[in-house]
Amino acid sequence: MEAEQKGTAARKARERPSRAVEIVHYGALLGAAALIGITAGSAHWTLDTIVVIAVMTVVSDLTRVEVSSKVDLSGSFLGIVVATVLLGGGPAAVIGVLTIAATWLRWRTKLHALVNNAATFAWFPLISGFFFHALVRVAHVGHGAASYYLLVFAAFVVALAVNFLAIAAYQSYLGRTTVLRMTREALIPMLPAELFSALLTMVAVYLAVTLGPVGLVLFALVLVVFQYLVGELLLSQRRSKELHRMATIDDLTGLANREHFRGKIGEEVAACTASGKPFSVILMDLDRFKEVNDTLGHDYGDLLLRELGTRFIECVGSAGMVSRLGGDEFAFFSGLFTDDQDELETFANRLLELARQPIVIDELSLELDASVGIAMFPQDGDDAHTLLRRADLAMYAAKTGQVGFSFYSPELDVNSAQRLSVLSDFRRALLHDEIVLHYQPIVDLDNLVVRGAEGLVRWEHPEQGLLPPAAFISAVEQTGLIVPLTQHVLERAISQCAEWRRDGSEMSVAVNLSVRNLLDHDLPKEVERLLSQYSLPPEALQLEITESMIMSDPERAMITVRRLHDLGVHLSVDDFGTGYSSLANLRQLPINELKIDRSFVIPMLEDERDLIIVRSAINLGHDLGLRIVAEGVEDERTLMRLALLGADLAQGYHLSRPLAPEAFSEWMGQPRRLLAKVG
Ligand code: C2E
Ligand code: CA
Ligand code: CA
Repeated sequence: MEAEQKGTAARKARERPSRAVEIVHYGALLGAAALIGITAGSAHWTLDTIVVIAVMTVVSDLTRVEVSSKVDLSGSFLGIVVATVLLGGGPAAVIGVLTIAATWLRWRTKLHALVNNAATFAWFPLISGFFFHALVRVAHVGHGAASYYLLVFAAFVVALAVNFLAIAAYQSYLGRTTVLRMTREALIPMLPAELFSALLTMVAVYLAVTLGPVGLVLFALVLVVFQYLVGELLLSQRRSKELHRMATIDDLTGLANREHFRGKIGEEVAACTASGKPFSVILMDLDRFKEVNDTLGHDYGDLLLRELGTRFIECVGSAGMVSRLGGDEFAFFSGLFTDDQDELETFANRLLELARQPIVIDELSLELDASVGIAMFPQDGDDAHTLLRRADLAMYAAKTGQVGFSFYSPELDVNSAQRLSVLSDFRRALLHDEIVLHYQPIVDLDNLVVRGAEGLVRWEHPEQGLLPPAAFISAVEQTGLIVPLTQHVLERAISQCAEWRRDGSEMSVAVNLSVRNLLDHDLPKEVERLLSQYSLPPEALQLEITESMIMSDPERAMITVRRLHDLGVHLSVDDFGTGYSSLANLRQLPINELKIDRSFVIPMLEDERDLIIVRSAINLGHDLGLRIVAEGVEDERTLMRLALLGADLAQGYHLSRPLAPEAFSEWMGQPRRLLAKVG
């Protein structure tokens, strides 16, 4: 075992030594060479012993085992001390320099580190050898005496001291720390091992003295094998630590993973059951994260999650735990043993603030929001599974209510059961024709002629009455049911449009698609089949998609979009202006139309910024050869203004709310009233 200057240890402070230190280094080397020459006569230059020890030190050093970042385990130091004792300082110094040179050839550390190591490995055998042989001579002890081995021990200590001081002094010079600190960090932890090493040195000397070179060879073999075994042991220990770390850590953020968190909560449950203390499990789900991921790519999403992880860790501190459960879901153990709602509220708000603080990546400032749910031990659950599930229900309630955070309450369980029954109800509803379309007219801004209508889905619920899409679409989207829903809507819309056309008007009909539909490669075939079944020309069907739908899986979505376009069906980009629209994406889509989102159109006469957006969208769309629809036209002035700005079509409550088919026909039958009013 030894302290040896490692190339990487010379971090930060000083890259290389000053001239003066270099002069000292080379001076020390020259001095050592001179001393070896002068004392050559009094040393034993026994070739076979030199070769055996040199082979051992070099092999041992090349197969060194890294114990920590500062200390390596190798038998080379021990071998050099043995050489010092058996042969004298000079030959031992030669072996020392040889070993350092061989290791350097293998690892190529910095040259100045090599020089310092070589000087050290020349000088410690010289000094310790001088010390040892002088004492042996003065005390007249022979190989047979026990005191001889005490002197070997003393020689080892001297060698270790010189070796350590030389290396530590240089390292602390480079790293601008103190030798004292190096002693504490590198030497003291190694002392037991050094003691063992000193004993081995004594054994080696004994074997060499009694058995000659054969004893030394035997010893060297045992040592190298021993070192190898220790190395394997350390390696397997490190591997199992790494495996353990991988099993408990979320790779992306370095936070605890779900298993780890669940385990932690299990432990807290056990501890708090014993102590009677309350605690809480807090869950957070990001809002709008999917949008970032979908539109800007996963790299951004990943960076964002990592940044949030760092913020949360700082906030929770070492008493608590932050975990990423997966996706954009985080879980917290606050470390607060309280059921005081105000205190927990403060904590939840702090987490929300952290999630809301803008995150700047590549000069892009991203703002997210989040929803937090809290479940408390013991009143909301007394095991990790229940606590997590109920915190999740509370989080879901916070999200749907858009209230930031909420505490678990028993009604939430009832609601979640209801949510499930919504879905089973929905299957039935599809079969029983409870799913209907209302139509909202789309009007030409040049002459106010009705060009078509958007079909908007409604659920005529037997108990709850007419449900708007907001009440069920997102639940339906999360299941495979969106595919049969869209099929149903398409069939209704296409047959309705065919009917209008039979009555003589050149109407078109618009249908909204969901992400899932774009990933469904059967959709174009289905559309083609319905068009031919109802003899509707393809251009009479307008399919509405949003950009973020494309971005969720661009390649797959593009295949569907292209096939639909090839059928001759018209495509619109819905809700244009919301989300992270990018012109590059837009240009690649085979679209005919942009629908400017109602959130810009509604306030455009009050807010100059919205007006600017609407105007730019119109110009941009026209430059790309697209037709522009403004949705959310709620009053006459907006309608006129849009006409002046050059928008092509308009849709909104001012013209008509979405109407059931009969009401729509009636409305169509009396267009003059509208025209008179608008014109
Ligand atoms: P959307 O595609 O943006 O549809 C327009 C929504 O704006 C409709 O709400 C409509 O009633 C409303 N609207 C129309 N004019 C005005 C106005 O002047 N002012 C205001 N404030 N609102 C106006 P609705 O029918 O509740 O639909 C909401 C959303 O549900 C739709 O937004 C669409 O994204 C989705 N949706 C509707 N039907 C379907 C469908 O069949 N399939 C799918 N996947 N989604 C649908
Ligand atoms: Ca739409
Ligand atoms: Ca829209």
